[in-house]
Amino acid sequence: MSEQQHPVADTETWVFTHPDVWTVSTPVVWHDGEDDVAFLRRYGYGPCLDEQWSGITLGIEPVGYGVRYAALGPEASYQYAMLVQLARTACRPDEAQCVVVWLPRFPDLMAFLARYGAIGNRQVDQEMLHEIERILEKTFVTWHGHGSSNCCQACDPHLYRRLQQARQARMQS
Ligand SMILES: [Zn+2]
Repeated sequence: MSEQQHPVADTETWVFTHPDVWTVSTPVVWHDGEDDVAFLRRYGYGPCLDEQWSGITLGIEPVGYGVRYAALGPEASYQYAMLVQLARTACRPDEAQCVVVWLPRFPDLMAFLARYGAIGNRQVDQEMLHEIERILEKTFVTWHGHGSSNCCQACDPHLYRRLQQARQARMQS
């Protein structure tokens, strides 16, 4: 995210509260040349410190993706911030567009993730399954000389024998 140039302009900003309440908030402003981390640090937020949780929390494929930040100090009005990177649109093709969602407290974070965390994940899962399928297909051809929808003596001896028998029966009839 940080390699993209952000517009030095107001960024749409919302407060999300449990169970599903969206309230428009004062837009946040990017400074020239500021990356995501610097930008949110200026507002008092830092990225997750645990590597495995720091990245994508929303895989919202058709929309973009979201990264979770947390308040650096306990006095913050909002304990969490979700920086949602939107997919670029035709009207602003060269600019990364973001939406900031403030999440005041832990239940709000949970409600947000429960409600919107899975958006696009099905598509991501499906792409991953397609990829696995493709790899299996290639592997089959390499190992067995046939695709995964066929069989040979090695991968399915029972079916292979039955098919052989059926073919012999056909030839004899
Ligand atoms: Zn085989």
